[in-house]
Amino acid sequence: MTAPGKSHREGISLLELAERFPDEASARAWFEKIHWPDGRHCGHCGSTDTKEVPNERPMPYWCRDCQSYFSVRTGTTIQNSRLPLRKWVFAIYLYVTSLKGVSSMKLHRDLKVTQKTAWFMLHRLRETWDDSGIDGILGPIEVDETFVGGKRKNMPKAKRKTLTGRGTAGKTAVVGAKDRFDNRVTARVVENTDGATLEGFVRENVDPGTTVFTDEASAYRRIASDYDHEAVNHSAGEYVRGTAHTNGIESFWATLKRAHKGTFHHFSVKHLDRYVTEFVGRHNVRDEDTADQMADVAASMVGKRLTYRDLIA
Ligand SMILES: [Zn+2]
Repeated sequence: MTAPGKSHREGISLLELAERFPDEASARAWFEKIHWPDGRHCGHCGSTDTKEVPNERPMPYWCRDCQSYFSVRTGTTIQNSRLPLRKWVFAIYLYVTSLKGVSSMKLHRDLKVTQKTAWFMLHRLRETWDDSGIDGILGPIEVDETFVGGKRKNMPKAKRKTLTGRGTAGKTAVVGAKDRFDNRVTARVVENTDGATLEGFVRENVDPGTTVFTDEASAYRRIASDYDHEAVNHSAGEYVRGTAHTNGIESFWATLKRAHKGTFHHFSVKHLDRYVTEFVGRHNVRDEDTADQMADVAASMVGKRLTYRDLIA
């Protein structure tokens, strides 16, 4: 058996996408198949006692149990969106295939929606992927933290680490882990990078007894008793000692920071967590075929909501 890998993944060209989704009906059929794999059910109450509505007004389906109209959007992150589902299909395609992220300006131009709509669409897709981190770490695992934004890159890392947290010189701290077994990543914005915060992150994500690699011993001293902890000392110029390194999670940070600089110019601190979620999600499905990546996003829409009011609150 051959392990699935990058060389086997199957992409979809923009032309193929347009052929697969020539009209609104094809897009709706795709969402319905993914959202209702076991048959149509009501997005309000889950009942399967439903029927089609003549002329599909105000919505295509009626639930006999809760006496409500519903569509394939009901009870998902695209509830209340009035955009054609075909535009959502194309947005999902651009979202999963743009390795450096897709800006709201690009989506605005490509889909002929306003930039504000494009911005909201992208945040809804990020909300959709909110749970796509690591599920059951097998290890060994690399744990590292980084800072996004601001201008402290010229400082030595040891110095930077004393300037922790958001609001300090415009930098926001992000902590992350990469499972060397399956290369999956999880990451999130944290208030600071003190020992208690890093310990909390490790304990929440990694089972005791797992081998954990970090780049500095001191901040992770608290986990030493419960984990097989090995550190390389970056501030002393040591980067790799045998298998003890954090190169995997650091290359993930590099992708995140390139996007921060190139695509988004600056992530707003307020929404940085959602951007991190986006890059984690894309990283974790990157070996899958594009069709599967798109289906993964569509399936994850079910049961989640993000209102514009919540987003700008
Ligand atoms: Zn119902």
